[in-house]
Amino acid sequence: MKKVILLAAAVPMLVRGEIPEKAAALRDSALQDEVAWSITEGLTTEVGQRLAATEAEARARDWAVARLKALGFSNVRIEPFTMDGWVRGEEKAEIISPFPQRLIVAALGGSASTGSGGITAQIVGFPSLDALKAASPDEVKGKIVFVWHRMQPTQDGSGYGMFGPIRWYGASVASKKGAAAIIIRSIGTDHHRIAHVGSTNFEAGVKPIPAGALSVPDADNLERMLARGKPVSMRLTLTPQFTGPRQSGNVVAEVPGRDPTLPMILIGGHLDSWDLGTGAIDDAAGIAITTAAAKRIMDAGRPLRTIRVVWFGAEEEGGLGAEAYFKAHGSEAHALVGESDFGADRIWQFKMNTGAGGNVVKARIGALLAPLGIVTGSGEAHAGTDVEPVANAGAGVLGLNQDGTHYFELHHTPDDTLDKIDPEALRQNVAAWTAALAVAADSPDDLRAK
Ligand SMILES: [Zn+2]
Repeated sequence: MKKVILLAAAVPMLVRGEIPEKAAALRDSALQDEVAWSITEGLTTEVGQRLAATEAEARARDWAVARLKALGFSNVRIEPFTMDGWVRGEEKAEIISPFPQRLIVAALGGSASTGSGGITAQIVGFPSLDALKAASPDEVKGKIVFVWHRMQPTQDGSGYGMFGPIRWYGASVASKKGAAAIIIRSIGTDHHRIAHVGSTNFEAGVKPIPAGALSVPDADNLERMLARGKPVSMRLTLTPQFTGPRQSGNVVAEVPGRDPTLPMILIGGHLDSWDLGTGAIDDAAGIAITTAAAKRIMDAGRPLRTIRVVWFGAEEEGGLGAEAYFKAHGSEAHALVGESDFGADRIWQFKMNTGAGGNVVKARIGALLAPLGIVTGSGEAHAGTDVEPVANAGAGVLGLNQDGTHYFELHHTPDDTLDKIDPEALRQNVAAWTAALAVAADSPDDLRAK
């Protein structure tokens, strides 16, 4: 209660009196936006999946350049970089004994191949990554490690931080203990017979092993089999391939500001996607939302500061586009960064990292967002993988947090397709980003966090 009173005492004059009329009008007209849907629909229909360092991702970059130019952005260009490619192969998991049946599996990004004949080995199961870490190498050696867990949906997506490490690091831990392969319960909250993919990371010097994700119902089935107490053996076939050095790239576009000496605003999302769906919520929607908002600001007259929109490449492989961007542009002055990369559901919360110089802007944005059903949250805003290096270097962070309750039902699955997006929710996102940009891009205040 005390906190509320303090806040109210600190901001009412800035908030109530000074909601910029222009920003409010831009916010309201953005609720009719068609640009974000058109980008999301176009990219998922005309390109589809956009796995990093593939020909499909290259086609997506060309599509992006054509679309960003057609929308009227300036300085539209591809900034290429090189990375190691990886592509999916055959994927099969069969219980050989004691309860023979097929399970649904998909390889994790960075998985080694079992070879076309597959491998047959006994399963050793663990309820968590910590339990696997605590296991002795004797328990694991030569076996197929299986890790289950109980990830639950949360509005803020924090379940990913709790359970994601099973996918991110489990394979490396298993390999160090001599495992033949690892399969995990998909990092997902649905109960469909589809696997959730995503990258796994082998520590330097650790031998990559085959690594896959089982669909949640198949993982639950395997957990029940193990609970019967008899040895369970599986034949696992995963034949992904590393394709060597390949090109990826970031696509950059700008709305030039009236004062080029002012630090710019960097927003965007990632153009690449996993290869099973069409990357609609991850992350066609994110680039569409931020681009549509920037276009609305551009069309309303030149803003004070430059807005740079980046459609990053190879985010899913560990933020390689982010690294390349920071290498090329880290020395340029960035006032504020923000990324939309958490689906397409409604934004429920606003957070902003800024120094004292940004408090007026923050209060005005908060007031503008309230009529969209968005609360101002306390604590740190999360920058998003692609803009994180710039944030770490001191830029302010704009956090417009989407409701993540249903995000992990679709995340990195074949079900990440256009039909899952609610056009009204997409428009609410565009309105929120437009409102925030309208204030931040027209303010000369120091928005940096450090
Ligand atoms: Zn993403």
